[in-house]
Amino acid sequence: MTIRLLAEEVASRIAAGEVVERPASVVKELVENSLDAGAASVTVETRGGGREMIRVQDNGAGIPAAEVELAFRRHATSKLETANDLEHIATLGFRGEALASIASVSRVTCTSRCADEKMGTQVRVEGGSIVWRAAVGRPQGTELLVEDLFYNVPARRKFLQAERTERNHIDAFLTRYALAYPCIAFSLVHDGREILSTSGSGNAQEALLNVYGMDLGISLLPIPASLTNAQAVQVGGFVSPPSVHRANRGYITLFVNGRWVQDLRLTYAIIQAYHTLLPTKRFPVAFVTVTMPAEDVDVNVHPAKTEVRFRDGDAVFRAVQRAVRATVMDEAPAATAWQMPTSQPAEDISPSDRITRARLAGLTPLARQIALPSAEPPAATMSAAPPVLPNLPLTTPESVLPPAEPRSAALSTLPPLRVIGQASTMVIIAEGPDGIYLIDQHAAHERVLYERMVSAWLQGKIASQPLLEAETVSLPVAEAAYLEELLPALHTLGFSVEPFGAGTFLVRALPTLLTHLAPGDLLADIAAGADEQSPIHTELEERLIRRICKRAAVKAGQVLSREEMERLVRDLEQTANPRTCPHGRPTIIQISVEQLIRQFGRSG
Ligand code: ADP
Ligand code: MG
Repeated sequence: MTIRLLAEEVASRIAAGEVVERPASVVKELVENSLDAGAASVTVETRGGGREMIRVQDNGAGIPAAEVELAFRRHATSKLETANDLEHIATLGFRGEALASIASVSRVTCTSRCADEKMGTQVRVEGGSIVWRAAVGRPQGTELLVEDLFYNVPARRKFLQAERTERNHIDAFLTRYALAYPCIAFSLVHDGREILSTSGSGNAQEALLNVYGMDLGISLLPIPASLTNAQAVQVGGFVSPPSVHRANRGYITLFVNGRWVQDLRLTYAIIQAYHTLLPTKRFPVAFVTVTMPAEDVDVNVHPAKTEVRFRDGDAVFRAVQRAVRATVMDEAPAATAWQMPTSQPAEDISPSDRITRARLAGLTPLARQIALPSAEPPAATMSAAPPVLPNLPLTTPESVLPPAEPRSAALSTLPPLRVIGQASTMVIIAEGPDGIYLIDQHAAHERVLYERMVSAWLQGKIASQPLLEAETVSLPVAEAAYLEELLPALHTLGFSVEPFGAGTFLVRALPTLLTHLAPGDLLADIAAGADEQSPIHTELEERLIRRICKRAAVKAGQVLSREEMERLVRDLEQTANPRTCPHGRPTIIQISVEQLIRQFGRSG
């Protein structure tokens, strides 16, 4: 084949692949354009998860009538003139690629009017070609209507996720910008329903409450400006106190010079700042803004513009880590706050007190629950008679069981074990007829809780306990929408939760197994699993039970008494699959006597 230049249409379709990955990328590019145009209000509306329709409206500067068509040409931009300008970019856009890319994979209607124009201009572009143009009346600003995204790219269309997932990506993007730009009034509407609306009053705290909801919003600590006042790298934003944490890094958001960026190193700087303050495998909530001279950061790294390079990455790392650490240390509770309150008898504590206490301590007081079983309602304790578990494999539909592994009975059951002690506040060391057993306390407890809950669920007998006082829980926008979809399933699992409007829920009852947990944290963890991918197809309820048990199980780092360890080991012996946790990882490492003999070089 001979070499030839690609037609403009083909070239822009290829370029579009990098810029427009999914509906949320369209929202991102259009909203960034609105911000660059100096808009004070930005409205985003979608249908069908953005596939059917995305509309972004602003009251910014507008596009002059003579330039509307030009805006859709590749490499057409008003934000950059010379290569020199690339050294200090002050706008979010600069590549002149977004409109061309979006228009090449959808049908776009652009309507815009500048302040000094009498009439606005409307242009329709389909698959990259201008279809018509008209003069129309409209207020100052720009509206971009994007329909039938990827109608001409079947490959891309196939890879889109469920509508809900695409909506989540849009929510995650827009809520971040609403936080970073409190002076701008954002509104987000999916399928006619308003999900988010910020006032644009400029009050960052207010935006925080709008986006994260009351519970989380109020708990976050502002990073004081005084920490980095006179420095070249200024750090601002909000971070969680050590008592508030999440199961993944998804709640860490970074803005550099007004641009949302994804940067592994800075994310790590934030996590590092919490060193020794959080339970293992838990992550802070952080919204951190970094402001620095434009020439010290290169934003021209990737077409999607979410990666940056710093001239002095170490300095930025240190500035972020120090500012976050100083903010958090100011609030860090004394080390003893992490110990379980064992001196106070549990019967004095009302459920709501217990919830408050759990929330304050930030840790699950499970050890106390194990230590003082008699004080708790029977089904909530680890000493409760186990449900009829031996029947479990017979009565359980295939789909809710962990993948079947052909295994001899001798392998899948546990012999009676004698507890020797706890190591690294993580592992229970026990002895059995065939050597030494190292038991992961968290994984083992997860297994125990999981089988109890699955068995109770299959029998339709999950015990539910009303809270003394119904508790309101408010969740960030995206999670709230997802949680609402989960409510019927949660109901069958013993939750009584009602939507209460504006991302708020009323919790009336919890499964008895979970009454020691703070409802807010629990629901936040459940709703945070929105994007969880499971290799095997399982029922929603079963996935929820796994998520719940992960949250409810005793954590690494918790000191267990001998009695607690013995009870846990006995409970594990009772399970149908004692050797793996519900996520498939091992609960036990066994070292046989033969192995010991061999390793010590004895002949036996
Ligand atoms: P870039 O943002 O990199 O310049 P785009 O393709 O996103 O490239 O936009 C091309 C040009 O169209 C912009 O430079 C700007 O002049 C104009 N434009 C796009 N959206 C808007 C808007 N909402 N308001 C005003 N002008 C806009
Ligand atoms: Mg742009």
